This record gives sequence, structure tokens and C-alpha cells, in this order.
Amino acid sequence: MIRVGILGATGTVGQRFVQLLERHRDFVVSALAASDRSEGRPYVEACVWRLPGESPETVRGLVVRPCEPPLDCDVVFSSLPSAIARDVEGRFAAAGYPVISNSSSFRMDADVPLVIPEVNPEHLALIERQRSKGKGGYIVTNPNCSAVMVVLALAPLHRRFGVTSVVVTTMQALSGAGYPGVPSLDATDNVIPYIAEEEEKIERETKKLLGGYADGAVQPAALAVSAQCHRVNVTDGHLGAFRVKLARRATLAELREAWTGFRGLPQELGLPSAPAQPIVVRDEADRPQPRLDRDAGNGMSVSVGRIASDPVLDWRFVALSHNTIRGAAGAAILNAELLLAQGRLLRPARAVERAPARG
Ligand code: NAP
Repeated sequence: MIRVGILGATGTVGQRFVQLLERHRDFVVSALAASDRSEGRPYVEACVWRLPGESPETVRGLVVRPCEPPLDCDVVFSSLPSAIARDVEGRFAAAGYPVISNSSSFRMDADVPLVIPEVNPEHLALIERQRSKGKGGYIVTNPNCSAVMVVLALAPLHRRFGVTSVVVTTMQALSGAGYPGVPSLDATDNVIPYIAEEEEKIERETKKLLGGYADGAVQPAALAVSAQCHRVNVTDGHLGAFRVKLARRATLAELREAWTGFRGLPQELGLPSAPAQPIVVRDEADRPQPRLDRDAGNGMSVSVGRIASDPVLDWRFVALSHNTIRGAAGAAILNAELLLAQGRLLRPARAVERAPARG
């Protein structure tokens, strides 16, 4: 088992990490870290558990540590606020740890992979550029919670027909703002047409994720992306209404086939968190809906529906994904599972030590 530490373990995404890693095939949680508010207390006391059921027995007694190396683990998952993530994650990577990060701080750095394993696993080669500079540690990031949904929905179309323009309007869940997040008097009976920096993140991350990898660098995809983001009164599940222009003509049946037939490396390798079907197409007139569809594929599948031709651009559709699972903790765990399968996850000393046992 690979021993993992979680930075920001008491937060919205941190709790998802703890939940998803319970009884994981390859990973065991050996260290938890958070702010000085939580430091020094057993997890069960420091963390107000906000997911259904109890926190896992295996982590309740772990004492919460400060977010500084060394930490008693082989790999670090990070769900820290972006304001501190750059400094803290940078220090863990410099100390030799693989850091699998949810935060936005490093996503656009030229030598940091921003990865969705079904879409651009080849970008993981960038970690060799980081490793060559330090003690073997590195940072791998997963996208913004809406950018994951946007790119998974677009990737099958981009591969088959070429997407030249996309306009997406998101309706994003409250849990995307962390805890306590949006004040109840702002959220109730309301839609807030602003989420700080979200539109910019979707626009730039989509181009990096769909970009090609050549000569040790990512070339951003040449498509026009326009995003407008709204916070809505839903607990979990980000929904996007899309309009797309394609380079090649396609029929509705071909679009449907591109989505339903879409598979990637995680499915090929049978990674533990990989959904059997990354994109689920719903044919009902009123789906997908956050409450009914966010848990598709254990929260790792994107649901697509309302597919129709569009009089302004070529096609329109609606997509939905679970923001704290496929949009955060589940995305990071899938990245780590792929790194492990590729032999890139362990810190160099342990990799040597463990090599014979792993065959
Ligand atoms: P959150 O609920 O506010 O949790 C923040 C966590 O960071 C808590 O564990 C908190 O510890 C810890 N923390 C805060 N300040 C700290 C400090 N100065 N030093 C050390 N630890 C500190 O936030 P979240 O929603 O989980 O988001 C975490 C990160 O994931 C953010 O970068 C966010 O943008 C990203 N993200 C979130 C989502 C989502 O759907 N929520 C999706 C994708 C990405 P204490 O409890 O001790 O204060």
C-alpha cells in the first residue's frame, strides 16, 4: 500500500479524499494536515464531518499535523486554498514528495501537468522536467471543477470532429465554494452571476487540457472558449449549457456515438476509480439534473443530454458532473492511480526499495 497524506484534510474536498480513500486498493491514509485551528487534535475532533455517515474509523484517531514537510507518507494529496497552496505545495515538492494538487496555484505553470487521465495522459511526461531540477518531487494538478466537466464533454467531439468554438454557461453548486461557502441569505431564492476567476480558469485550462504535447511542452489547443459562471442553490453537481461549432459536419447519431464510445487509458488499465463509461448520454427530455445524475459512475462520469442542432453555432447540449468527486478529490485520486500504474508515483528512494515487491 502507498501511504498518502492529505493537506487541507478537514475541508470540503479534504473530507471527500478521506471518504474516497477508505478501503482503496492501493492507497492508505497515513497523515492528515490542516491549519493551526485543527493542528494537534485528533481528526475526529478537529473535523466537523459533513458527508453522510461517520468519518472512517481508520482516520479518526490520526492527529492533524501542520502543512509542512516532513509528513509521514509517500505521496501528498492537496486541497488547500490557492492563496497558500503555491508556497506549501512547492515546499513538499522540493522536499521530494509527489504532490497531487486540486488547487489552481500551479495549473498553468509550463512544467506542471494539468491532467484528466482520459483526455491528456501524455502531459504527465512534464514531471520529468520538474524531477530533474530537485530531489525527485513534483506537482501534478487536476483542473478546476467546471473545467473538468467542460473538457470531458468536449474531448470526444474535439477528437472526432474538431471543436473550433465553444460557449458554455455554468450553473455551479454551493459546495464548490468550500465550507461555509456562500452565505445562506445570498444563496436562497437566488442565482449569483459571478464566481471569482472561474470564467478565466475555464477558458485557459480548457485550452491547456485539449492541447498537444511535443518537444517537452504543451501547445494550447486553438479553439475559442467563452464561459459565463453562475452560483445556484444546489448542494453538489455543476451543470453547463453548451453551444459548439465543429470543424467537420456531424450528425446527431455521430455525436452520440462519439460520447458513448469514449474511453481512455484509465478504462484500458482498469484503474480503481475509473468509471466504466466516462460519458453517460441521457435521452430523456429533462436530464441531466444535479440531484438525479451527479452520482453517475460513482461521481466520476459526466452526464450529457439535451443534444440538439443549434441555429447560431452547430450544436447545443447540457453536461453535468460531481464537483467534489470528478471535479476535485476523485480527479486527483485518478491522476495518482495512473501515475502509480506508470511507475511514476513513488519517491525515488522508496521506488528502489519497493521495486522487487511490485515485480
Ligand atoms: P475548504 O472547505 O475551505 O477547506 C480548506 C482546507 O484548507 C481546510 O482543511 C482548512 O483547514 C485548510 N486551510 C485553510 N487555511 C489554511 C492554512 N493557512 N494553512 C493550512 N491549512 C489551511 O475548501 P475546499 O472547498 O475544500 O477547497 C480546497 C481547495 O480545492 C481550493 O483550492 C479549491 O479551489 C479547490 N477545489 C475545490 C472544489 C470544490 O468543489 N469545493 C473543487 C475543485 C477544487 P482548517 O479546517 O484547519 O481551517
